[in-house]
Amino acid sequence: MQELLSKFSDSTLSRKLLDKVQEAAEEFIRLNGRRPAFMEVCGSHTMALAQKGVKRALKDHVNLISGPGCPVCVTDQKSIDAMIKLAEGENRIICTFGDMIRVPGTEFSLMEAKLEGKDIRVVYSPPDAVKIAEENPDKEVIFLGIGFETTIPVLGVAIKEAMDRGVRNFSMWMTTKLVEPILRTLLETKELNIDGFILPGHVSIVLGKNDYQYLVDEYQVPGVISSFETVGMLGSIYKLIRQLLEGRVEIENNYSAVVTDEGNIETKKLINTFFKPVDEPWRGIGVIPDSGMDIREEYDRFNARKRFNITVGEPGKTKCRCGEIIRGLVTPEECPLFAKACTPSKPIGPCMVSSEGTCSAHYLYMRED
Ligand code: SF4
Repeated sequence: MQELLSKFSDSTLSRKLLDKVQEAAEEFIRLNGRRPAFMEVCGSHTMALAQKGVKRALKDHVNLISGPGCPVCVTDQKSIDAMIKLAEGENRIICTFGDMIRVPGTEFSLMEAKLEGKDIRVVYSPPDAVKIAEENPDKEVIFLGIGFETTIPVLGVAIKEAMDRGVRNFSMWMTTKLVEPILRTLLETKELNIDGFILPGHVSIVLGKNDYQYLVDEYQVPGVISSFETVGMLGSIYKLIRQLLEGRVEIENNYSAVVTDEGNIETKKLINTFFKPVDEPWRGIGVIPDSGMDIREEYDRFNARKRFNITVGEPGKTKCRCGEIIRGLVTPEECPLFAKACTPSKPIGPCMVSSEGTCSAHYLYMRED
């Protein structure tokens, strides 16, 4: 294990792998007259590939397209508006993850509502919101539940903790997302030309390798599950190019230290105990059938959508192109607001707010000036 860990930070190994990726990509370009195009599904990969210089190093060899895996970026604007409306009620505390507080809603962000005196708090994990509810029994505590298959189980843990401790003033506004429906949607709309997916490391710990077989069987698109180290990501890109060159279409597991074929069965059971699939709106994409999870009826008392009668209007159009960026159709540089009106200190869209957002990654690590 020690040897394995030392290799992960070995820049000589990264250099050798980079050469191998470039060599394989050149062969692909020779045969096809274009660069291979891969989408990294996960926002953590987007940030890591930019931060570690992989995107820049491979820009002439591989077209690395950022995908829809940043949970903050895909959260529908209406959920933010709903949370702001909820915060306007008497005796309420709204809890959310850090990045969400700065994402603009239709008129305000949660941060602006907080500055106006609303009780809006950032928590590190959903069970922290249960604790706040326990400490404030005369108030309703509502948590904005976002995230993919990695976060959904933790939301289940929060419900379990609230039940076990008899906390009745805690509820969640669920707007979670699932990986499979969005990948199917991207492939079925045929807007996107990609040769393969760099599959998310963390989500795959829950899902397992076998849960991606539909990509091969139904869409003939290869995928490689990847870790987040430079060596791991380069290795995954190399494996994808080798599949293309050899005419193979497979799901490969390049993160086998933690990802198994079946995934985490207990975690999947936990998810299905508390949640059920629902149609879910995605920012800039629209409603995708069965693409999110909401609380099962047996646990309705923890469902803020059922507990509070909140309606919000349709958001107006904005100049932000996050919807297209999430779908991999444009790059941040193609947005006229990028690095001008929209910067990390004054973000206009969620892709610039989030620490996993594509615009933020490009602004911090890939700007030419
Ligand atoms: Fe939206 Fe800003 Fe990104 Fe443009 S640069 S797409 S306005 S987040």
